[in-house]
Amino acid sequence: MKILVINAGSSSLKYQVFDMEKGEMIAKGLCDRIGVDGAISHKRPGKDTYKKDVELRTHDDAIALVLKLLTDPELGVLTDISEIGAVGHRFAHGGEKLTKSTILGEQEKEYLYSIVGINPLHGPPAIKGLEACQKLLPNVSHVGVFDTSFYSQMPPSSYVYPIPYEYYETYKIRRYGFHGTSHRYVSGKAAEYVGKDIKELKMITCHLGNGSSISAIKNGVCIDTSMGFTPQEGLPMGTRSGSIDPTVVTYLMNALGLSPKEMDDILNRKSGLLGVSGVSSDCREIMQADEEGNPRAHLAMEILYHYIVKIIGSYAAEMDGLDVLVFTAGIGENDAVVRESVCKRLGFLGVKIDEDKNRTAKRGEFCDMSLEGAAVKALCIPTDEEYMIALDTYNLVK
Ligand code: ADP
Repeated sequence: MKILVINAGSSSLKYQVFDMEKGEMIAKGLCDRIGVDGAISHKRPGKDTYKKDVELRTHDDAIALVLKLLTDPELGVLTDISEIGAVGHRFAHGGEKLTKSTILGEQEKEYLYSIVGINPLHGPPAIKGLEACQKLLPNVSHVGVFDTSFYSQMPPSSYVYPIPYEYYETYKIRRYGFHGTSHRYVSGKAAEYVGKDIKELKMITCHLGNGSSISAIKNGVCIDTSMGFTPQEGLPMGTRSGSIDPTVVTYLMNALGLSPKEMDDILNRKSGLLGVSGVSSDCREIMQADEEGNPRAHLAMEILYHYIVKIIGSYAAEMDGLDVLVFTAGIGENDAVVRESVCKRLGFLGVKIDEDKNRTAKRGEFCDMSLEGAAVKALCIPTDEEYMIALDTYNLVK
């Protein structure tokens, strides 16, 4: 069966097609600048990338173009659209009710509309992508895979904020967690690698990219994660502040006369590694500046390590131990210096890495960097959220 995976953003739409019997991705691409002008890039493994500027007014236009390319005699991978057995849609937010991957009927769609208020950035475009797909592929199941569902078994002590309880009851202000599909994928792979049932393992997974989060998975259940009500909480990120004293926000708003939107912009787009370093939001450029002696670039990286180590330490305490530590995403998969700097500060937990193995690991590939006999397995595992979405979709419809 072929599964189409759709990840729709406000002006972009990513897609991948998987052949599930072979377990392989056979095509992927990106529709960009939807509603602005429009462009597509389309790739098949081992073949040249096809790129074209093409008018994309709406998500409907984008999906129509994707389906046309997928069945194109020269560029396509399908002889007919009917080869698509089902579509998996990535949703960042499933609220409190959509706690596992689900075939999306009218009821589920209504619920997704009802939670747009707590998910204003990702919700509307993801629903647009779904509806565009449903129009053009009306005869197959459309499955929603939710980033938040991995956190649905967190205990209330992890997800209820210590603010008046009525805000949770009335407005559903609570911690939801994000990047769940990635944490679920790499934790499954890690358990497979160490050859143990995930139910017997205490694991911490670090998804370090532009957006970053860390999750604590005890006996197969995620019990805590660093992102919260929004993907703003937790670690300092490329341009997001992560957790700071909330009074800093009200103080600055008062002192500088900032509107909520302006404050939001500062916290989401001008903070984090960019805000501290003043150089870039990209780790590679900050580390380069650090090497050249820029003190603020150095400080930005030190703050990042400080928070990563602090969160890992607290999660190990929550789980009463640690068996496996995983690094993934852009920084986690590619940056041996970040992995080494973090692991070196975790010796007390039993994390001991072979520096050569870590440094010579191929970028973006699996690596077991643990020192022989170390109490904690330290692994680098490339994430694959799209495959996880395809697999959930396949398992629901096959
Ligand atoms: P997103 O959250 O947007 O998906 P990514 O997972 O792609 O982000 O991660 C982006 C981050 O990964 C950037 O900070 C970038 O510097 C870092 N990164 C990507 N490739 C490399 C590399 N080869 N070496 C070091 N860092 C890298």
